Amino acid sequence: MSEKLRVGVVGATGMVGQRFVTLLAGHPRFEVVAAAASERSAGKSYAEAVKGRWAMGAPIPEAIAGLTVQDASRVEEVSREVDFIFCAVDMPKDRTRDLEDRYAKAETPVVSNNSAHRGTPDVPTVIPEVNADHFAAIEGQRKRLGTKRGFIVSKPNCSLQSYVPAIHPLRTFGPKKVFVCTYQAISGAGKTFKDWPEMVDNVIPFISGEEEKSENEPMKIWGIPGAGGIVPAKEPVITSQCIRVPVTDGHLAAVFISFERKPSREAVLAAWKSFEAKPQKLGLPSAPRPFLRYFEEDDRPQTRLDRDFEKGMGITVGRLREDRLLDWRFVCLSHNTIRGAAGGAVLIAELLEAEGYLGRK
Ligand code: NAP
Repeated sequence: MSEKLRVGVVGATGMVGQRFVTLLAGHPRFEVVAAAASERSAGKSYAEAVKGRWAMGAPIPEAIAGLTVQDASRVEEVSREVDFIFCAVDMPKDRTRDLEDRYAKAETPVVSNNSAHRGTPDVPTVIPEVNADHFAAIEGQRKRLGTKRGFIVSKPNCSLQSYVPAIHPLRTFGPKKVFVCTYQAISGAGKTFKDWPEMVDNVIPFISGEEEKSENEPMKIWGIPGAGGIVPAKEPVITSQCIRVPVTDGHLAAVFISFERKPSREAVLAAWKSFEAKPQKLGLPSAPRPFLRYFEEDDRPQTRLDRDFEKGMGITVGRLREDRLLDWRFVCLSHNTIRGAAGGAVLIAELLEAEGYLGRK
């Protein structure tokens, strides 16, 4: 087995950054050697920089606590130490895009949690079990950026990471229309109840920008890689409502769906049960087995009971019923800061390494 790859986490002090640092402790292939954030945190030890806002259940990994946080804008300095970075920063889109481009151009591949580059046609937006073939766009992206090894791959928005995986095995039946309501946890906004007390005993029917992402990003994920980048799919047409609910972690989605060829209940359940993709076949360290689990119980999946299924990397589904307007309806759940954020990005990096896109500098 070759040496571990050296990893930088940019935005390491934030909610997603903390999750990266926690998930990567003891990872068999990757080792966090650099933590970077804004100039507010730069120069402090990691433990000092997250004091009072460490939101993970587990303690800060020992190897990270003493690292000096670097200024993320000092791209050359961070790049010198690492083979690639995970990036999860809360910055205006244009500045995030610029920061990620600078890392890629410094020959440091970027696995991004940010939305800034999801609309860029030659930047793959990947759920490893769904569209690993989109890595093919990296070659064209490198030509555009003028790099030999640097590139950017993004992870899609957390809202869609329950229903896109659930719909994907059903694509052979030609899904036409999808209505989806998502019920999203407060950690999706980088918050806890302590710093967002208005969310206790409350529901807020608005999450800025989320409905557009929930409707549009799946079309890129189901798109076809072409010479100029990914050509988005045209179907299914998705309409969504995204609602913030008083839950710490776990985004639940209620889905209504129609098909060109309506599958039987048995066919839907069999498609979910047998679904296996590249990460499972390659036995990647973070790949859930199974990826999808269907519950027969009427009151499952539940956020608190089921969000940690397969260490937060698996998708749980339940309540499959015929629908009076469309064909079928069901409910599905994913862990938003694990599968929907840091864990999903770690799995992307594992697959990139397995396919030869990431290596030692
Ligand atoms: P967060 O908790 O607010 O953390 C933001 C991070 O960005 C911190 O490390 C912060 O550093 C850093 N930062 C802010 N301004 C910066 C600057 N000018 N230069 C460098 N670093 C800067 O946010 P989050 O929830 O982790 O989200 C981070 C990204 O992941 C966002 O793009 C978000 O949309 C995306 N995302 C979040 C989730 C989720 O479930 N939370 C899911 C998917 C995707 P300081 O500590 O120094 O301020």
